[in-house]
This record gives sequence, structure tokens and C-alpha cells, in this order.
Amino acid sequence: MAKTALYTCLALLASASAAHADDARVDSELKQITAWRRDLHQHPELSNRETRTSKIVADELKKLGYDVHTGIARTGVVGILKGDKPGPKLAIRADMDALPVTEQVDLPFASKTKGEYLGKTVGVMHACGHDAHTAMQLGLAEILAKMRKDLPGEVMLIFQPAEEGPPPGEEGGAPLMVKDGVFKDFKPDAVFGMHVVSALSVGTVGVRAGGAMASSDTFRIVVHGRQSHGATPWKSIDPIVTAAEIVTSAQTIVSRQLDINHDPAVVTFGIFNGGQRFNIVPETAELQGTIRAFDEGMRQQALKSLKNIAEHVAAANNATVETEIPTPTSNPVNYNDPAMTARVRASLEKAIGKDHVIEADRWMASEDFPQLAMSIKVPSVYFFVGATPAGQDAANAPSNHSPKFFLDEGTLKIGTEAMLQAALDFLRGT
Ligand SMILES: [Zn+2]
Ligand SMILES: [Zn+2]
Repeated sequence: MAKTALYTCLALLASASAAHADDARVDSELKQITAWRRDLHQHPELSNRETRTSKIVADELKKLGYDVHTGIARTGVVGILKGDKPGPKLAIRADMDALPVTEQVDLPFASKTKGEYLGKTVGVMHACGHDAHTAMQLGLAEILAKMRKDLPGEVMLIFQPAEEGPPPGEEGGAPLMVKDGVFKDFKPDAVFGMHVVSALSVGTVGVRAGGAMASSDTFRIVVHGRQSHGATPWKSIDPIVTAAEIVTSAQTIVSRQLDINHDPAVVTFGIFNGGQRFNIVPETAELQGTIRAFDEGMRQQALKSLKNIAEHVAAANNATVETEIPTPTSNPVNYNDPAMTARVRASLEKAIGKDHVIEADRWMASEDFPQLAMSIKVPSVYFFVGATPAGQDAANAPSNHSPKFFLDEGTLKIGTEAMLQAALDFLRGT
């Protein structure tokens, strides 16, 4: 997660009161939004297991008169609201899943929930703030439903499961929603999303045009050599030496091949496995790692380069390689369309005050959100909503995914106001 001194300075500025465009509408829902958030927080559900959350969402949307679709990507829910006036179509996405983390925050509604994860019983916690996302989007659903008579266009509210990734062996999240036809009968003109973050103080919203969150590609390289006694290495084709050369050569992808003046990128090897005994050259060695980028072209270049290096270094050592670059579980760059981002930024400034909207730092984490808009080739915008209490050092606050992740509930008001304004301005064409 991006943590800069800049955030801390701006966060201090953000503690002053802001001008709120749709204050009254959000204020009247705030009690309910807070109640939903606390209830969801107390009853978190792991990825692809969000059945209770999904039912709460679906029941509420039905009550509000939305056209409700359930069972998309297992527990996903979609609600569509048609305004009485003509206008564009907008999709807004919130995620619903929690993490296998045991909560260490002293709250009256702290989670005591247990779940099954990778065959083990684990604590479950909304350590990434998806409880807040779901609650804010339900609040938005109510506000928009009440405005239906004056509402131009159509809104699709997407409540997505498994953003944190489905359990191994299962499909899930945004790609499964796409596969299940989430946009088959309703094609939005744009998709909006937001995320609460500990790195910003409550009252501050961050947004940036272009690559806002990194692509994430996992890779796997298996070097096949020839086994021999360690005392006679000339009889071997050494996969360890070859794999080591691949790791070293791959360092030039970022340092010598990519234009890092344009955007940063990362190539990291996290697994290097080979051999079982000190005096045996093994048959194979395995490498696994991750590639992160903020530009689709750079991402593709890095993937191609790694494959090239793996194959040619192996050939130079008389070894062969088996490559999976990338493995199927990838996230693309979370790319904020520049023109649409300019519009959304103006809406955010209108909603919470110009001084409270900052240019967000890039975030090297990844999201499956961009897969929604990419699947139908429409622009998307994703912004960050500060969650750390005023007066605390946001840069050093327990981060998202920490058992100590703490969300100041003032975030609920700011986030709902921000998304409401962005949605209304988009639908009104202003
Ligand atoms: Zn997360
Ligand atoms: Zn998250």
C-alpha cells in the first residue's frame, strides 16, 4: 500500500469541515448505513461464501423496487434501477467478502466468526473494509430509489463476491461475474468503484488518472536439466545454476528494458525450489513470482521478456523450460480513464470540498474491478476513501488486511457522498 508523507500532511488539512453537495440525503441514511456496516462487520463471510450478506443485499434491493438478479458468480447480487427520465447507464461495484484474519480490534461489534480456509478453522474479519463498501452501496441504493422520479438514466448496483480471490480450485469474483453474463442484458456506459484505505485519513478522498492500481500476474518457470552426483557436475545439466541465471537476468527487465520514466513496475521471485541433498545436482528447479505494472503495454512487455529470458538462458545451458507466464489468475491494471476521471474528480470536489480530494499515489496492490469494464470496453474510475481516524498517523496506521485494521465510521458518510455525487453527475451528464 502506498504510504507517503504527503498523505499525512493532506490528511491533517482534511480534518476541517467540508462543503457537502448532497449532505441531507446521505445524512438521513447514515444511521441505517452504519447499522448495516456494524451488522456485516460482526458477521463477515469468506470469499465465495457470502450467502448471508448476499441475502441481506437482495432483500433490501427488492424492497426498494430494484430489478434484482441473484446467483451471479455464486453469491453475487445485481440491482438495476431505471430512473423516470432518459439518460446514460452506470454500473457501480461494491465487494462483499471478508478475509481469513482474526480480528484484534476492540469493538462492541467485533467479529468472533470462524470459517474454513485451506482446510483449517480460521478467524474471519472484514479486514479490508468490504463491510463498509456493501453498507455504503445499500445506502446509495436507498437514496437513488427515493430520487427515481427525477433520476435520469439507469443504475446497476453490483455487489460482488470474492474480490480477495476465490479459494483454490474455485472460480469467483469479477471474472466469474463477467462469465456469468452480468452485462448480458445491461451494458453500462461506465463503471465506478471505490475502496476504503488506511493510508488516508477520514475526510480525504484520493483519485488519479491512468494506472491507479497495479496489474498482478503470477508466473511459474520449471527448469528441466539432468541429474548427476554433485562431485561430477560436468555430467549434469544443472537446473539450479540455470534458474539462478534466469533470476539474475530477469532483473534487467525493470532496470534495463522497461521505460520506468513512464510508470514503475516490479518483477519479484518469491519461490526458488530445487534439490533435496547437498551433493546431488537435481533434475529440476522451480521458480515462482509476481509481475506488477501500471501500464498494459509495460505489463505485456515484462511478461514477454521474462518468457524470452527463461527460454534463452535455459537453451544457453542446454536445459529446457516449462513456463506458465502468466498463470490464469491475473488482474489487469486498474486503469482510470483520464477523461472520465476528470469528471469524477470534479464531482468528488463538489461533494466533499476541493481541499479534501487529493491526487492519489499509485497503489502496487491489485484489484479484479477493472475486469468488469474491460469486458465491455467502457471506461471505469476507481477512487480511494480515507478510513483512518483524524489525529492518527495514516501512513503508519494498521493497513488493510491487518487484524488491527480500523475504519473510522465517518468514512461511511464521505464515501457515500462521494459516490452519490459522482453517480448523479454522470447520470445528469454534468
Ligand atoms: Zn483486500
Ligand atoms: Zn479490498
